[in-house]
Amino acid sequence: MTTERLEFKTEVKQLLDLMIHSLYSHKEVFLRELISNASDAIDRARYESLTDSDILEQDGSWKIKITVDKDAATLMISDNGIGMDHAGVVEALGTIAHSGTKEFLAALQSKEVKNNPELIGQFGVGFYSSFMVADKITVLSRKAGKKDKKGIQWESTGDGTYTVSDVEKETKGTDVILHLKDDEKKYLQQWEIESVIKKYSDFIEHPICMDVETEVDSTLKKGEKVKVTEEKTFNSMKALWLKDKSELTEDEYKEFYKHMSHDFTPPAKVIHYKAEGTSEFTALLYIPSRAPVNILYKDYKMGPMLYVKRVQIMDHCEDLLPQYLRFAKGVVDSSDLPLNVSREILQHNRQMDIMKTSITKKILDTLDEMKTGDYDNYLKIYEEFGRILKEGVHFDLSRREAIADLLLFPSTKIDAGKFRTLQEYVENMKEGQEEIYYIVGTALNEALRSPYLEAFTKKDYEVLVFLDDIDDFIFSGFEYKGKKMKSITKGDMALDKEEKEEKDKAQKKYEKFIDLVKDILKDDVKDVRFSGRLTDTICCLVADEGDLDPQMEKLLKSMGQELPPMQRILEINPTHPLFASMNVIFENDKKSPILEEYIRLLYDQALVLEGSKPKDPGAFSKLIAKLMVENAGTAS
Ligand code: ADP
Repeated sequence: MTTERLEFKTEVKQLLDLMIHSLYSHKEVFLRELISNASDAIDRARYESLTDSDILEQDGSWKIKITVDKDAATLMISDNGIGMDHAGVVEALGTIAHSGTKEFLAALQSKEVKNNPELIGQFGVGFYSSFMVADKITVLSRKAGKKDKKGIQWESTGDGTYTVSDVEKETKGTDVILHLKDDEKKYLQQWEIESVIKKYSDFIEHPICMDVETEVDSTLKKGEKVKVTEEKTFNSMKALWLKDKSELTEDEYKEFYKHMSHDFTPPAKVIHYKAEGTSEFTALLYIPSRAPVNILYKDYKMGPMLYVKRVQIMDHCEDLLPQYLRFAKGVVDSSDLPLNVSREILQHNRQMDIMKTSITKKILDTLDEMKTGDYDNYLKIYEEFGRILKEGVHFDLSRREAIADLLLFPSTKIDAGKFRTLQEYVENMKEGQEEIYYIVGTALNEALRSPYLEAFTKKDYEVLVFLDDIDDFIFSGFEYKGKKMKSITKGDMALDKEEKEEKDKAQKKYEKFIDLVKDILKDDVKDVRFSGRLTDTICCLVADEGDLDPQMEKLLKSMGQELPPMQRILEINPTHPLFASMNVIFENDKKSPILEEYIRLLYDQALVLEGSKPKDPGAFSKLIAKLMVENAGTAS
């Protein structure tokens, strides 16, 4: 027998170190993790056996078996699943197959995980949790589908290295043998094992069995008892989703959610229904009450588990949900799909499309019902997933209005912490108002103080506040109930006819002065014009109609995106006294040097107002200081 000694990858060493030295509560989750691995291995074998009959066990019955050896103090979890070969073992049990390893290790050291180590399961490193209770682990495995008895033995004491050797193994599948620590021997007791299984693994679809000794009446001697060994199944294996709603309690739904998602916070909403007609299937879906830690990672796997007539086909079937509902979890069990479906077939399957349409509609309808009938809970879900849901307005053209109806926005007409729907906005629009106004910002307070809102506030127009990074991208160009969405920091703006006429008159009257401003700022701005949105502030910068919103531009730049330099339009408030004074200087001496200084200062002020830096902060500060000295001179 050749034995190789190999080193764990660094992240496994760190993980084991933490696992062994800092996690003390809920150690029993190790058993859930091993059983879940065994069950996954069986699912894979069963799935592959549909096309490769060599993989089928002779008796065809899939099983997870627990064996205790009290003398040797070992606990063995065996399965007749897919098994592993040499390369598979080194890959699976020497590394962590998780791209967010750094985040994971950080999370592991966080208080939340230290107090709730059951969260570990979320990250897919369940196997190593066995080192919480074992000081040595031996894994014997033989890959299913091979005729010879060549197997592999993996062994480690969790100290940084492990050994791998070739062995003979009678049966296909995997045995995980835990050599229990002295103070963890309670896991040799049948009742302890049984209660952990009932608690965490009751819904596992394969029988989890153990040989137990019971006393029965002797058939030979009346009145005497004899001991017999019987195989007992500890889990109920019920496919919860196939039961009728009326048979299920809230607790059962919650337990199943935990089991399936490894999320230990109860879900915010359960959706359970049977579809009949063109497609027959059952869906048990959950909307979590908080976003999974990894939802923003690239390797986040979305989509419910897919079963065909109780047989699990896939862990995450992403073709059953649109991306913008990727937070929903659950199980979908179809009666129509063939058992041996491949990923490629699924992608072009009509049944899949029907199911996806039905599930999408059901989730959106449920959210809508919650918004009307259970607003507080809806708000909680919305805070977690609203940003994701919004993507649907852009990507799902056939449902964009239904999705838009689910959205909530802060607005200039309601208190902070409260929200407006688009429907409410439209109902409250002023007479003659044709567009839905919005302002993009990063913080509500700041956005509400924006000078861009002046005219809107004065004339009592409501403006929605968009605070999500993707908002401008999603909504520019979107029409809700025939009303266009319009950013108030973009394009020319005149709130009523009268105002427009006045603006045009001023534009004509002061044409020459405006030309001078344009000339002095020609390298900085695209255009200079009078503003229809200012009442108290002297000037502001706005984006051209088709340009990127300035907030969006800042955001993209902060994310490292290269953008072409974007020139904006300087808008001047013709009713501001400063403008009148500047015009007097202009009328007296068109070449006055003061004029140029003031015009540059005007531009810098506009930059400051939109949250940017003056073009030349040093020069800006000097000019202000000079003006203050002059003013102080006249004031004293
Ligand atoms: P996860 O199960 O979340 O992937 P684990 O650390 O528990 O993470 O297991 C790592 C990998 O080891 C599994 O993905 C699987 O490939 C392999 N593995 C673990 N247990 C078994 C088993 N009983 N049979 C076959 N493969 C297994």
